[in-house]
Amino acid sequence: MEVAIFSSTPYERKFLDEANKAGHHKLRYLDVQLGPDTVGLAAGFGAVCIFVNDKADAPTLEALHRGGTRLLALRCTGFNNVDLEAAARLGIKVVRVVTYSPNSVAEFAVALLLAINRKVHRAYNRTRDSNFSLDGLIGFDLFGKTVAVVGTGKIGCVFAQIMIGFGCDVIGYDPYHSAEFEALGGRYAKPGEIGSKADIVSLHCPLTPETHHIINADMLRRSKPGALLINTSRGALIDTEAVIEALKSGQLGGLAIDVYEQESSLFFRDLSNEIIQDDVMQRLVSFPNVIVTGHQAYLTREALTTICETTLQSVTAFEKNEPLENEVKAS
Ligand code: NAD
Repeated sequence: MEVAIFSSTPYERKFLDEANKAGHHKLRYLDVQLGPDTVGLAAGFGAVCIFVNDKADAPTLEALHRGGTRLLALRCTGFNNVDLEAAARLGIKVVRVVTYSPNSVAEFAVALLLAINRKVHRAYNRTRDSNFSLDGLIGFDLFGKTVAVVGTGKIGCVFAQIMIGFGCDVIGYDPYHSAEFEALGGRYAKPGEIGSKADIVSLHCPLTPETHHIINADMLRRSKPGALLINTSRGALIDTEAVIEALKSGQLGGLAIDVYEQESSLFFRDLSNEIIQDDVMQRLVSFPNVIVTGHQAYLTREALTTICETTLQSVTAFEKNEPLENEVKAS
């Protein structure tokens, strides 16, 4: 099948070519994002493959449909960037990668937590400048601290397991309770407990209308002073302006994020020669107690291999009219 692959990067192409080494599909790599202005590039492609910041809203899907696209394959887990109802109305099937490596994201969340708590980012910069002072680098022991896991699905459970290994008390918040989370030693929080008890909050829930700005001014006001916040899930779970205020007042002790609400105009490209117009991002990166990474939590060899193999398996299944195991439908 002919597949137009939007937002493709050189490092991903290697894994996609490897997954397609039998040559079943004809892959056309495009480095632009899918959206109303670029959708014309997909004309004539039966399948279109997109990533987290491509935009598959109703007008884009309608244009894809007019161009002959009948399959939209997401090479990611989250599908908040797709209008599933419009896709269903147009008869465009949508598939995603339901699971690839929860370990990749959970381990990265731990890396962010360790770095922000023990100021590794600052120490790294200092020693490169021959500054071996330890002033301002005091962290705290994770052992015995309370870690709140918001979203106790696949990634949340791996993260919880690692934190339990550190000797933390792990509390969870999720409308659907997971036996796996409890078997690991996590317990579900009582109302208000996340805010009042957690020394660390790590977000692992999907972005939905219910979880949009789940971290907001009110929640931050009720949180334990000096708590650390980690977000490897989706940027819009956090009201960034409210978080900036909480960082300024010291109510929030540190922030480490791999995702950002306005990331689609920044992430996955080198803007080092440009003047960044996003003042909120510029404010964020000016804090000594903030780490921002560019949506790389999934970026391991194992995860990329599974993502690319699963995506092309779904394209093959669609071509052969076989059941689509990874189909995602409007609820
Ligand atoms: P999952 O479906 O296994 O788990 C998500 C959990 O969130 C579920 O248990 C669900 O019940 C829970 N949830 C739903 N609504 C909630 C709410 N209102 N409050 C609290 N919990 C709620 O998904 P997963 O594989 O663990 O992935 C979690 C998220 O991680 C994805 O949705 C995606 O946004 C993000 N992600 C990020 C990266 C990255 O590279 N940064 C990579 C993969 C996934």
